[in-house]
Amino acid sequence: MHSPQKVQLSPQSPSTPPGTAGGSHNTEWMERAGAHLLQNYKQQPIVLERGEGVYVWDADGRRYLDLLGGIATVALGHCHPEVVAAVKAQADKLWHVSNVFYSEPSIELAEQLSAASGLARAFFCNSGAEANEAQLKLARRVMKDRGTPERFEVLAFENSFHGRTLATVSATGQAKYQKGFEPLMPGFRHLPYGDLEAVRKAVGPQTAAILVEPIQGEGGVRAAPPGFLRGLRELCDAHGLLLLMDEVQTGIGRTGKVFAFQHEGILPDAFSVAKALGNGLPIGAMVCSEALGKSLPVGSHGSTFGGNPLAATAANVVMRKVREPELLASVERKGAHFIRHAQKLQERLGGRITEVRGRGLLMGVELNGEAGPVVNRCRELGLLVNTAGERTVRFAPAYTVTEAQLDEGLRILEQALQT
Ligand SMILES: *Cc1c(COP(=O)(O)O)cnc(C)c1O
Repeated sequence: MHSPQKVQLSPQSPSTPPGTAGGSHNTEWMERAGAHLLQNYKQQPIVLERGEGVYVWDADGRRYLDLLGGIATVALGHCHPEVVAAVKAQADKLWHVSNVFYSEPSIELAEQLSAASGLARAFFCNSGAEANEAQLKLARRVMKDRGTPERFEVLAFENSFHGRTLATVSATGQAKYQKGFEPLMPGFRHLPYGDLEAVRKAVGPQTAAILVEPIQGEGGVRAAPPGFLRGLRELCDAHGLLLLMDEVQTGIGRTGKVFAFQHEGILPDAFSVAKALGNGLPIGAMVCSEALGKSLPVGSHGSTFGGNPLAATAANVVMRKVREPELLASVERKGAHFIRHAQKLQERLGGRITEVRGRGLLMGVELNGEAGPVVNRCRELGLLVNTAGERTVRFAPAYTVTEAQLDEGLRILEQALQT
């Protein structure tokens, strides 16, 4: 299936190259995967073994251009030398102590998140869902502390994605993630994304907070219309509601600002980050204002692994990098380059591509049909991407990607769309 001109062996490819008498390492591993991994993912049929920058190699030594970046996680590229060096040094020093004690990396990371956002308090956890869970728990406690316990409802949006825990899947505005897990948690209402009037009408004496993604990532890379987030901010101010931002996919430089809400010149009351924060090591954070932070006092919330020294060390390198204006500018520039060229491709392919969307290095190419088969074809041609929603091909590469590599990705996408 792999076209020979796209198949490139790495210099250190495994001793048994693909197609030889030794058989396929990919196949062997996938058979083992089939036996004991929970079959909850629709995994692409390759086993990835090694990565460098925006390239990864599978178990048979085949190289791929990775423009998915671990679903928007590997911000600085695979095995970025500075991240590797920092994590190795930390690995020789201290791995884990729990939050019974302090450790240096998480303190520095809290300082960096606070300096970059303007919100004073950080709570660390291990994933995006947990970071959102913390925001939701925060909202409930804040309303109790204010003497308005009847305010527990969170307004969220159709087509959103907030995670897979019971609370965050209840907050998610897509039935496919909820099916079979009912009863869902009460206290969520879903409104049309971008419809400020609908939100205004939905606010009532029971409303505690609004939870929103600046760009709906899993929902197909759909940005909030201009003014929407600012409108939500004003609505929250007018009614004493908390504006909770889910920056799990958009945060940490992905859109060309450290946090996507900064494009709008607004500040939420709290926000969540995770995906790009640890360059692929699992770490999430909920960041909130000094005043709100008081509602989660000693004993009220926690996480055993939260702020783990290895993950926080990786995150400190990522944060130092993404706070550099030049890096952020390059993310915007490269994203704009991709969008321009994808739009040219759209013109050339007349109707096959229906829309090109994105900001910074979070891009979606919407097709006039299912994106799944195109993603598969791209892989066969040596490009890794995935779907976001039914019809959208998502690109979320490392910020270190070059314009030439983005062009190469689009060239492969074009080829995939023509076969
Ligand atoms: C990925 C994602 C989550 C969930 O993060 P996990 O680490 O998988 O729990 C939540 N919200 C958004 C916007 C996401 O993109």
